[in-house]
Amino acid sequence: MLIQKCKKCSKSFKWSTILKASWSWNGFKPIECENCKTKHYYKPINRIIIFILAFTPLIFENAILGLPLPYGIRSYIFWVYPAWAILLMLLSPFFTRFYIKE
Ligand SMILES: [Zn+2]
Repeated sequence: MLIQKCKKCSKSFKWSTILKASWSWNGFKPIECENCKTKHYYKPINRIIIFILAFTPLIFENAILGLPLPYGIRSYIFWVYPAWAILLMLLSPFFTRFYIKE
């Protein structure tokens, strides 16, 4: 889990650059290396990985709800989803991968 480096010159991309490229509303823009200006394109597989990860709490939901938890704790379970979504978004630059078009 490392932020991707430029495939040409090995300069690391910034976390914020990748975050913006991955979560912009107007589609996926290629990111450009600050050093050598090589364009890197967003791999579609990233979307699938994020999609699968996004639904991970649902897999554990039944297990958690099946536990004899006191009602006070149970009411907090709702917050797992937005917290997970934010966490996933903030961590996405660590597993998002880009490629160079030949
Ligand atoms: Zn570069």
